[in-house]
Amino acid sequence: MIMVEFAGVSYRAADAHAHIYPGKIAEKATASVGDFYGIPMQNVGLPHVLAQRGKEAGIDRFLVCSVATKVEQVGSINRFIGEKCRQYPEFVGLGAWHQDVEDIGGEMDEIERLGLKGIKLHPDFQKFPIDAPGMLPVYEEASRRGLVVLFHTGDRRMDFSSPRRLAAVLEKLPDFTCIAAHLGGYTEWEEAKACLRGTNVYIDTSSSLFMVSPEKARESIAHFGVGHTLFGTDFPMWQPGEELERFWGLGLSEEENRAVLYENFARLFGLGDAL
Ligand SMILES: [Zn+2]
Repeated sequence: MIMVEFAGVSYRAADAHAHIYPGKIAEKATASVGDFYGIPMQNVGLPHVLAQRGKEAGIDRFLVCSVATKVEQVGSINRFIGEKCRQYPEFVGLGAWHQDVEDIGGEMDEIERLGLKGIKLHPDFQKFPIDAPGMLPVYEEASRRGLVVLFHTGDRRMDFSSPRRLAAVLEKLPDFTCIAAHLGGYTEWEEAKACLRGTNVYIDTSSSLFMVSPEKARESIAHFGVGHTLFGTDFPMWQPGEELERFWGLGLSEEENRAVLYENFARLFGLGDAL
């Protein structure tokens, strides 16, 4: 087991938000995400680079995903993620999905067959509003199967991924288990706190701590609950080691660090203590 040390305490850590791409498209895919956010990418999103950088930083588990911008990509991305999870036992995989998937049950059967634990959606890249009526059966089916849905949430420049839209889904499906990435809504942190809540709504810390003050980040964590907050890096956007430094800067207690770094992740994805 790989541990990370801080202030004389050892922690087990999981990165709950990382992207990986197949070798032949990794550089292009990484660059296009960097361009979209105007943030220079720190790495190339290759599985072995994630495993290596993560290990160097003391991270023991990684939630890996990739986004399908076309429905035809769903199957091949999912096979790729499944294969990498077999190759790297420290990876927990989420499947890709697309709003044009017709056979919802069939595609989720395949996701489960591949051993994936949920699905990742990026409404701004995929161009659908989170609360699109056609997506509700997807969320219901994922919930029924215990698959976790990770949403990219928030972007002031766009409306698709607004935390308000996720709140509208939760009004209809109050028990929906989902992760609202980036402290509930990138660049919409105040809106996220104002409108979004739910028994099974989690947030991750990825791509936010570079922009939000520790005090504001603690407010978001308090709103959603320390038991519902996951550490994440948004690799390849950020270096795992640097994101951990930002995380320590929040000044959480030892118990809170344990929860956010690993315990919540392990509980949400039903991990035993293996590995
Ligand atoms: Zn993401």
